[in-house]
Amino acid sequence: MAASISLPVGSLVWVEDPDVAWIDGEVLEVNGSDIKVLCTSGKTVVVKSSNVYAKDAEAPPSGVDDMTKLAYLHEPGVLHNLKARYDINEIYTYTGNILIAVNPFRRLPHLYDTHMMAQYKGAAFGELSPHPYAVADAAYRLMINDGVSQSILVSGESGAGKTESTKQLMRYLAYMGGRAAAEGSRSVEQQVLESNPVLEAFGNAKTVRNNNSSRFGKFVEIQFDQKGRISGAAVRTYLLERSRVCQLSDPERNYHCFYMLCAAPLEDIQRFKLDNPRTFHYLNQTNCYELDGLDDAKEYLATRRAMDVVGISSEEQDAIFRVVAAILHLGNIEFAKGKEIDSSVPKDEKSWFHLRTAAELFMCDVKSLEDSLCKRVIVTRDETITKWLDPEAALTSRDALAKIVYSRLFDWLVDKINSSIGQDPNSKSLIGVLDIYGFESFKTNSFEQFCINLTNEKLQQHFNQHVFKMEQEEYTKEEINWSYIEFIDNQDILDLVEKKPGGIIALLDEACMFPRSTHETFAQKLYQTFKNHKRFCKPKLARSDFTICHYAGDQQLQSLLETLNATEPHYIRCVKPNNLLKPSIFENHNVLQQLRCGGVMEAIRISMAGYPTRRPFYEFLDRFGILSPEVLDGSTDEVAACKRLLEKVGLQGYQIGKTKVFLRAGQMAELDARRTEV
Ligand code: ATP
Ligand code: MG
Repeated sequence: MAASISLPVGSLVWVEDPDVAWIDGEVLEVNGSDIKVLCTSGKTVVVKSSNVYAKDAEAPPSGVDDMTKLAYLHEPGVLHNLKARYDINEIYTYTGNILIAVNPFRRLPHLYDTHMMAQYKGAAFGELSPHPYAVADAAYRLMINDGVSQSILVSGESGAGKTESTKQLMRYLAYMGGRAAAEGSRSVEQQVLESNPVLEAFGNAKTVRNNNSSRFGKFVEIQFDQKGRISGAAVRTYLLERSRVCQLSDPERNYHCFYMLCAAPLEDIQRFKLDNPRTFHYLNQTNCYELDGLDDAKEYLATRRAMDVVGISSEEQDAIFRVVAAILHLGNIEFAKGKEIDSSVPKDEKSWFHLRTAAELFMCDVKSLEDSLCKRVIVTRDETITKWLDPEAALTSRDALAKIVYSRLFDWLVDKINSSIGQDPNSKSLIGVLDIYGFESFKTNSFEQFCINLTNEKLQQHFNQHVFKMEQEEYTKEEINWSYIEFIDNQDILDLVEKKPGGIIALLDEACMFPRSTHETFAQKLYQTFKNHKRFCKPKLARSDFTICHYAGDQQLQSLLETLNATEPHYIRCVKPNNLLKPSIFENHNVLQQLRCGGVMEAIRISMAGYPTRRPFYEFLDRFGILSPEVLDGSTDEVAACKRLLEKVGLQGYQIGKTKVFLRAGQMAELDARRTEV
């Protein structure tokens, strides 16, 4: 929606700026398609009119609580609105039904107290300030009234505030659907809420992007009975990052539980044969041990208390922490060459000590544990072959064991939480809350990143389809024509990866079955197969790398999508305003990038392709009656007056709905420009 529409001298505009992404200014001169603008920074620039966007002179300085109320819906307008609100601690803003949440990086307790929850209870959506409680309330009411299951999808990059938002949603749903616990037992909603600290202890870690980063995806399904009371719940987790258990990069940490355990009361330290975290290989690969504002000793006790609430017995808790401790000891076993060719043995007395301790804590036989690290058993159809591993291969198998044990422990915890909370087989409807990590891109991306990005690609598809559907519904409700808009989707990427046969995953399966496959042969196969695919690129000079051009820069997954498809979705898009994790800093470029990748700009684009500006008839007449005052004369018929006014000014392509005027992108700015000429 560029401003090939009239932008007379003196009008306020947005132009691109290398420092702040978009800067506002005033048009000084117009020479054909060149526009000279005096920016508020004092700089004067000459830009092409196609890169200039009109600024709404009447936009309230503190912003509007819904982007669709912006007179001009474009990128600079959206960005400026978010910033204006963030500056006054209004961290939530709607874009239609989507809630955008900008991380405040400071506690705002008044936003989340019980009084606040009481206010949102039953309030119409949009009546109060934007809030996750409003989204949860809308979902709850739709579920009760229509009997349709709901889901709330929370997305955003690492550190943007997904998990915090998820917790607020769960608190609100627990508040709405709670009931007094029977004497001496824990209520389902308390158990649901306390599952958070338990999962965070084992599945969250400090990363460069977030001191409490969830390294797994989480879908919490809250089940309700006929009366709208919580009757059961299930937690499903996805794609726990396993590599973190044995491999860290500075300045990150391993999973919180390891440090908590090392800070446990003396009695537990002795029982689990622990020591300073600096003595363990799985923890001392980085220099980061303590976190500001986090007391691991306290967290240990808090985690145990949360486990009590969730229904994990103290014997089970001991068993869990025994496994965690055993993993630390496992990581300290090193290997040296053994007597046989290409064989290995624990390197020294220290390694033997850790091997014995690990076996003791795992409650297994020392020799079997040693064999499982130093030997490999190959089972063929006719025989079982035992092969020695050299020291390097033994290290790999040690780490593989640590990873698999940890991820099984995590899965066990999730199962335990689920069986203790209990499911309601008669539940008619549910509300699901999805907290999934965003697109990831590192220097070297492993299969883990591939899976995470694939998940996101699918959720993006789901989101686009939904936004598109919502737009259509609004048009249908207003009885206007919407056949003009074409939906651009990312199905081609999904096909590239998933199609059977012939997609990347199918080819990988095939490659894994051939004993002689290597990274190179697999890559060659991909290069050959997809050399003409527009979403697939082979980097120059590479022999085994490949790149998939995502929408943005398993596996378990299928059933998640099926669940989501059976529900009415609601979306919360979290935004991280800066990478310093500090309050009051709003980095324009950074935020813009997230709005683009997170589909917010895409949602706006979909809306722009239709009729992005909607104004109730009376508001429209209020603002533009001045263009043709005679249409108002003596008439009380707003619709007729609007029609006459639009005809008079000669606008093309707008639509008249049942309650609103629908304008094409840019038409509002055009009308405003005429108004200044009057
Ligand atoms: P990841 O993908 O790494 O798990 P995330 O999106 O889940 O990231 P959170 O852990 O929810 O991010 O948020 C990161 C930090 O930001 C929190 O630990 C908290 O300090 C702060 N934060 C986020 N949302 C809020 C909020 N609404 N109020 C106060 N602080 C917040
Ligand atoms: Mg998180």
